[in-house]
This record gives sequence, structure tokens and C-alpha cells, in this order.
Amino acid sequence: MARVAVVTGGTRGIGEAISIALSRKGYRVAATYAGNDEAAQRFSAATGIPVYKFDVGDYDACEKAVAQVTHDLGPIDVLVNNAGITRDAPLHRMTRAYWGDVIRTNLDSAFNMTRLVIDSMRGRNFGRIVNISSINGRKGQFGQSNYAAAKAGLLGFTKAVALEGAAKNITCNVIAPGYINTEMVAAVPKDILESKILPFIPVGRLGTAEEIARCVVFLAADDAGFITGACLDANGGQYIAS
Ligand code: NDP
Repeated sequence: MARVAVVTGGTRGIGEAISIALSRKGYRVAATYAGNDEAAQRFSAATGIPVYKFDVGDYDACEKAVAQVTHDLGPIDVLVNNAGITRDAPLHRMTRAYWGDVIRTNLDSAFNMTRLVIDSMRGRNFGRIVNISSINGRKGQFGQSNYAAAKAGLLGFTKAVALEGAAKNITCNVIAPGYINTEMVAAVPKDILESKILPFIPVGRLGTAEEIARCVVFLAADDAGFITGACLDANGGQYIAS
């Protein structure tokens, strides 16, 4: 029986590439999204992957969605916590709304979704959880105290869940992408990209969503059971952690 994978924010950008890569590997994939129906329908029509619309920051909505996916595809074996947003401002101009939106969407979401699949994974003695953090959660970034806090929070969350899941063959790992060529990065002004980002990427280019997807495929595999609590940096050499 094919394994079932849920990719939050799986209809666009990095998530889209993850959904497609897992589907090509034979997983039965559910891709979730927040509100961009047009992109989701286009994605679903092109790939045949079913899509589920809900807010990952809303626990009750996540609960309904997890129940629906389980009903449609079967119990969830692989969870990729990928959905994320930015609301940038330096701290002295950061609003409580910006702070709250980012923590809720990028960090609370990981609790919501993981909490809702963990009992079933424990019961079946198998699970693969992959969280998508960011280089900016590793090293900080000007204007991103909210985003860096949420993404760094995912690193701690991953380590704790890895310890708790180990005896039940549930792994939990985190990927920290550098700058990837998606709509999120396209929103960065061109002059900032050319003067402040590209010169600091040793490989000399942005990453691709497919390069992050292959990290997920690796960590999600049945035979990746010895890798847990790890952070996989995929950033073109921009930040080399010890
Ligand atoms: P995109 O903006 O291209 O796509 C985001 C996806 O998440 C969309 O499917 C979107 O749904 C969904 N989403 C956003 N908010 C919610 C929500 N509240 N509930 C459910 N789904 C939601 O993002 P990227 O592909 O660029 O980023 C994906 C992940 O990778 C994020 O966690 C991001 O922080 C991280 N990352 C990205 C980097 C980059 O360079 N792009 C670098 C490092 C990390 P909808 O289409 O409906 O809006």
C-alpha cells in the first residue's frame, strides 16, 4: 500500500515541488493551501493531486482537514510542515498583527498538524515528519524578528519531537532552505536581491524548489529511519553551520 503524505502549502512554490516529487516517488499526496483557489485548481488539474483548503494556524480547521485526508487517502505516514508566510518589518516598526500572523502560520501550524497526526503514527509505529525552516531561522535576518523566531522555533520543536518519536519509528527532521526562486523571493526588490542576497551565495545563484523537494524525498523515505532530529541546510553555501 502506498504511503500517504500531506504537504502543507503544497500547491505553490517549494511545496508544489515537494508534492510533485513525493507523488512521482509513489506516495499518495494531499496538498493543502490557504486561499489561492486559482493556483490550487491549476496545480490539481496538472498533477492529479487532491487539494485541501484550510488555515494551518487554525487548530480546529486542521483537525477537520486531517480527518478528511485520512478518510480520502488513508492514515497519514508523512507530514511536511511547509506552509509559511513573511510579514517583514524591523522590530521598531513590527506590529503585533505581523508578529502574530507569522508565529501562527509558521510555528503554531507545526504544532497543530503534528499534534493531529502523532497518535496515529505512534499507533502504526511509523512516521516521517519534515519541517521547513529557513536559513533566516538559523542566522537571523534584518526585518524578520517574527520570521526568524518562528523558523528557529521549528528547530527546537524538531529536536524534541525527534526524541519523543524515536522509539516508535517516527522521525522528525528540519530543512533550512536558503534563498529559493519562488514567489516569496520574487517579492524581494530586485536591487536588494542583486546587491544584498546574490553576492553572498557562494554557488552564485538562487536555489530551486526541486532542490528542496529532493531533500524532503530523502528524509521521508522508509529507509531514512536512522536520521532524526537533524537539520539539513540547503543554501548554496551561504550559511555553513558547525
Ligand atoms: P509560497 O508563498 O510560494 O507558497 C506558500 C504556500 O503556503 C501556499 O500554498 C500558500 O497557500 C500556503 N499557505 C500560506 N499561508 C497559509 C495558511 N495560513 N494556511 C495554509 N496554507 C498556507 O512560499 P514558498 O514556497 O516560497 O515557501 C515555502 C516554505 O519554505 C515556507 O515555510 C517558507 O518560509 C520556506 N522558505 C522559503 C524560502 C524561499 O526562498 N522561498 C527560503 C527559506 C524557507 P495559498 O496558495 O493559498 O496562498
